[in-house]
Amino acid sequence: MSTLPQTLKGFRDFLPQEAADRERAMQTMRSVFVRHGFVPLETPTLEYKATIMGKYGEEADKLVYSFTDHGGRDVALRYDQTVPTARVIAQYRQELPFPFRRYQIQNVFRADKPQKGRYREFTQADADIFGSTDPLADAEILSVFWRIYTTLGLTDIQILVNDRQSLFQLVNDSGIEQAKHFSVLQSLDKLDKQTKESVQRELLLKEIPEAAIVRLFNLLETAKPSDSLAQILAVAEELGVPKNALVFSPTLVRGLDYYTGLIFESKLPDGSGSLGGGGRYDSLIGQLSGADVPAVGFGIGFDRTVEVLQERGLAGQAAQSSSILVTIFDENTKALSAKLAAVLRERGINAELYPESNEKIGKQLKYANRSGKTFVALIGSDEAQSKTVTLKHLPSGTQYTQLPVEEAISILCLPIKDLPPAVS
Ligand code: AMP
Repeated sequence: MSTLPQTLKGFRDFLPQEAADRERAMQTMRSVFVRHGFVPLETPTLEYKATIMGKYGEEADKLVYSFTDHGGRDVALRYDQTVPTARVIAQYRQELPFPFRRYQIQNVFRADKPQKGRYREFTQADADIFGSTDPLADAEILSVFWRIYTTLGLTDIQILVNDRQSLFQLVNDSGIEQAKHFSVLQSLDKLDKQTKESVQRELLLKEIPEAAIVRLFNLLETAKPSDSLAQILAVAEELGVPKNALVFSPTLVRGLDYYTGLIFESKLPDGSGSLGGGGRYDSLIGQLSGADVPAVGFGIGFDRTVEVLQERGLAGQAAQSSSILVTIFDENTKALSAKLAAVLRERGINAELYPESNEKIGKQLKYANRSGKTFVALIGSDEAQSKTVTLKHLPSGTQYTQLPVEEAISILCLPIKDLPPAVS
């Protein structure tokens, strides 16, 4: 018995319904980015291995897909968008307008252990501003981040914010020796998943004196936003982000070492994990590419975000336009049906022309239902004679018999709740 071909583990097909949900979310994201002045950037899937490796740390390097190509070159698949963008900035520095703000929505590849929500090919939506250290840039980033989620319908999104500098200051003020600061932050990073007691135990194991740990937790409890963070938050509010969407979180660390100022993460109040995050990283581009450029930005896990939209029934809502199947009644009226499809498309209506002229109407209707059409249009001999079209609204079964084309178009353009009763 032959077995059906399969996809590779961790790699997915997106069948039309799912692909349509993803496309809608992507269009929404793109439109929000563009509205905030971000321009698109795309980089190739394959890069020289030397560009990608040694940038993410030892553990992450193990997850990079790399191989030798037919020309004997060592190459690697894109792992994230930051490193390829750093290369672009170094390579095209003279041509790009600074401060440069770009968005990038592309797939990335990681040889990770596949599990629910963790894939080997997934999509990231990044936006960053390069070349500005001003709090205005940080606030713009927070504003576009917030607006992405709320435009998608996740209006209860919360953005946890903190300042890396003040975290270091707190650790320092509690009397912990400098060499251990990063290690302490790594333990604090676990506070969203582990209890305070277990994190304190871990710090004791790292030989942090008990008195310093007590001081540190006292300082964390009474911490206030730094002046720099307060300035950023004030501008973000001016930019329309509501005060209650920005939550000061003194224990927010964000794992990566490279952040130098603002850090933030998006969460829904239901306690599920983060949907995206980012911050300011003023030295990374210099380390990656030699081009010393300050930066602030974020990455949104696109796949997880679409999954949440689907769970909440929000994925199909954005830009859902009624779509219509123009049926083919018979050979004689085929050309009229084709003409109708062309007119509908010109008027901005999503129209599919049934691609077979010898199929029974019943079968065409069945296809329209299965493929999720809102309407079918039919031109038989009566309609051909009276230069009209008959429409059927599939969800309700309402039929509009022999409408002049302009009238049919006006019905197709109406929101579904405003459809008139059947005419015959
Ligand atoms: P990172 O570049 O590791 O900071 O990841 C940024 C975002 O990508 C995270 O917020 C996740 O939502 C998403 N992400 C990371 N790894 C995976 C994966 N293996 N599969 C799906 N999404 C992922």
